[in-house]
Amino acid sequence: MIDLRSDTVTQPTDAMRKAMARAEVGDDVYGEDPTVNRLQEMAAALLGKRAALFVPSGTMGNQLAIRAHTQPGQEVIVESKAHIVRYEQGAAGALAGVQLHWVVGDRGIMTAEQVEAAIRPKDPYSIPTGLICIENTHNSGGGTIYSLSTIEKIRAIASKHKIPMHLDGARLFNAVAATTLPASTYAQHFETVSFCLSKGLGAPAGSLLVSSDTQLIERARRFRRMYGGAMRQSGILAAAGIYALEHHVARLKTDHDHAKKLARALQQIPAVRIAPQHVETNIVIFDVPDPRLTPADLVSQLKDHGVLIHAIGGRSFRAVTHLNISAKQIDEATEAFARVLN
Ligand SMILES: *Cc1c(COP(=O)(O)O)cnc(C)c1O
Repeated sequence: MIDLRSDTVTQPTDAMRKAMARAEVGDDVYGEDPTVNRLQEMAAALLGKRAALFVPSGTMGNQLAIRAHTQPGQEVIVESKAHIVRYEQGAAGALAGVQLHWVVGDRGIMTAEQVEAAIRPKDPYSIPTGLICIENTHNSGGGTIYSLSTIEKIRAIASKHKIPMHLDGARLFNAVAATTLPASTYAQHFETVSFCLSKGLGAPAGSLLVSSDTQLIERARRFRRMYGGAMRQSGILAAAGIYALEHHVARLKTDHDHAKKLARALQQIPAVRIAPQHVETNIVIFDVPDPRLTPADLVSQLKDHGVLIHAIGGRSFRAVTHLNISAKQIDEATEAFARVLN
């Protein structure tokens, strides 16, 4: 199978498994896992921050940030299709007691003007805005990248209103690979950053929450325990993360090349609506408007031809390139699309 559903489906490589098997471990609840500690130091350094916390998932990274930055009854500004809005089971409301204020971005990208308009006035009856979250790259937006200048403008507004900023950088390293800007160049504008080891970086599990505010990281550590995310000999997982950061960052560029190639090939198929110039990283979103073919039918016919993709609502579909997809498989997938759709 050519599995283009998500970059979360990657299998750990043999070399990564060897690194995991060799990892020196201890009890991380006691702060005694040397491999977890090394990964946390590495992540902090990479993002130009002072501290980091290893967490089981990107969702937990985001939710610890929301919980640690805000008070119950506050509001968090976030883009309408953000992971925090769509895919975290309402955790911001359920666990942090905050309300999400959605801003409708362009392919997931908010402007500084939109963010400023969403900040509530400071008066006795308006809900206080406690946090601004940005997702870079933006998953549901199609792997879109925030320009540094947009981030700088939003940062200036956040600073003016004294509101902290969190970066959901689940795929931050895809932005890094695409722009060649260092991760720290993005991270400098945020009080907290979360990023996933389990997406394009190819580790089996794990994310990091990173900040220069060591007190905030200690608060997040307490909430990690509360949310059930404190692990013991998690150095086994951290070793995969270290391996991923050392070996799988630069190669993300290959995934982007594959995604662009797939997008250009799909454009040649008359039944497909796609704007290849919108493919900025490893996510390809396209439409098949033909009413004779239901989304479920297209997905199952492609599966019969050895290709897995996701239907993402309406007439839209998503294909994601990753570590386990070769150039040859992109050609094979293209042939399968052509056979099913022509
Ligand atoms: C995948 C993802 C997350 C975290 O997902 P987990 O499955 O909880 O690791 C967070 N934000 C974005 C944008 C994502 O794509």
